[in-house]
Amino acid sequence: MKRLFGTNGIRFILGEELNVDDIVRIGMAIGTFFKGGKCLLGRDVRKTGDIVARAIASGLMATGCDVWDVGLITTPALQFSVKNMGFDFGVMITASHNPPEYNGIKVMANDGVEIDREREKKVEEIYFKQKFSLVNWRNVGKYITCSNEEYIDTYIRAVMRHIDVDEIRRRKFTVVVDPINSVGSLTTPRLLRELNCKALTINGNLDGDFPGREPEPRLDNLEALASAVISSGADFGVAHDGDGDRALFVDERGTIYWGDKSGALIVDYYLSTHPGEIVVTPVSSSVIIEEVAKKHGGKVVYTKVGSIYVSRKMMELNAPLGVEENGGVFFGPHHPVRDGTMTTALILDILAQTGEQLSKLMSKLPTYHQAKLRYPCPNELKEKVVEILRDMTKELSAEYIDGVKIWYDKKAWVLIRPSGTEPIFRIYAEAEEEAKLNTIVNEAKRMLEEAIDEAKRKG
Ligand code: MG
Repeated sequence: MKRLFGTNGIRFILGEELNVDDIVRIGMAIGTFFKGGKCLLGRDVRKTGDIVARAIASGLMATGCDVWDVGLITTPALQFSVKNMGFDFGVMITASHNPPEYNGIKVMANDGVEIDREREKKVEEIYFKQKFSLVNWRNVGKYITCSNEEYIDTYIRAVMRHIDVDEIRRRKFTVVVDPINSVGSLTTPRLLRELNCKALTINGNLDGDFPGREPEPRLDNLEALASAVISSGADFGVAHDGDGDRALFVDERGTIYWGDKSGALIVDYYLSTHPGEIVVTPVSSSVIIEEVAKKHGGKVVYTKVGSIYVSRKMMELNAPLGVEENGGVFFGPHHPVRDGTMTTALILDILAQTGEQLSKLMSKLPTYHQAKLRYPCPNELKEKVVEILRDMTKELSAEYIDGVKIWYDKKAWVLIRPSGTEPIFRIYAEAEEEAKLNTIVNEAKRMLEEAIDEAKRKG
């Protein structure tokens, strides 16, 4: 059957892949799946946010669901509210880190975690077979607009329960936040003010054109944040993506880190007081996570790439921590979903408890050379390309949890996997020496090129 959902919910350009009437039908499919009930609906700052949210709301109400529209909110704040404020499910309108022209739909169950593949397939079946349970005019759902302030307030207070608030307040940190013109500006600066920090922002105005930078935070597009940290003498900087669930950090010297490094710092710190716990991470993460976890008798469990896999695996194993290289940290004691504001709170807690600067803490972690590349490939060829790559790597030390991961030695590997949200392949590689990394990356590019050519030839 055709698919609606990708790695992270449904993604589309309105008017190209999906039209407004399709969105109404997606709303009807979701409402039919949940058999009515109370839905919390929120969105990020994208220009099509209002129209998509209203179309989804119409579809939901047509199946008898009551819709509480909270408007602008981060994905993790919505997820927390769904779980803790009596909702039967939630819908977040966001394309997360994708470019401005995209939008998307994430569906949360009443536990505030995205529905799993099984339930996505049921929603897809209802959608494609048009098996909607529509109600008559007397029974259509209610539409209630509500202020996001109350929800964000409750969420921020919940985040603060997991950190040493007094000690952080005493330290009077200065932090620069780059919420990329989106909803992260509603939560992280707010948290910082509650913690007696001086909160400075860049790209802090809400703007669906994302004029500041691309919504995906990466090492190569956070120079403005790094400069702002240095010029303001801040303790650190933090950058979010479009819906505020990711966080990348910049230390006081302006060095920008990938999420597996800041994630490793959090793993190191948390496991030092909770030894032996399980950490869940996708196959794209650095071996640093495993090294740090093992130091405290912890165990790492690997999943496919995608926040749903990490969340659901954490719940299955009762694991307190999940980490993604892209800046996703899942802190189970709060909620097993990735959360950029919760991650910022944890970094503040570590700085306050250790009394050390971020650069010093990072320098104590193992260092590896890493590469992350994007390589264009039409969506319809991806599956074939993966098949060909598997064939090509049969004789190598390879694993196939997600895409193709080739191990060259215990600390050198490359992962080639199709993006679930864009027409590209992503190449992730890591090695102890730079020369070795370059060799691995070139080899991976060559194999991918060859596989794409062959897939094209086979049509
Ligand atoms: Mg996101």
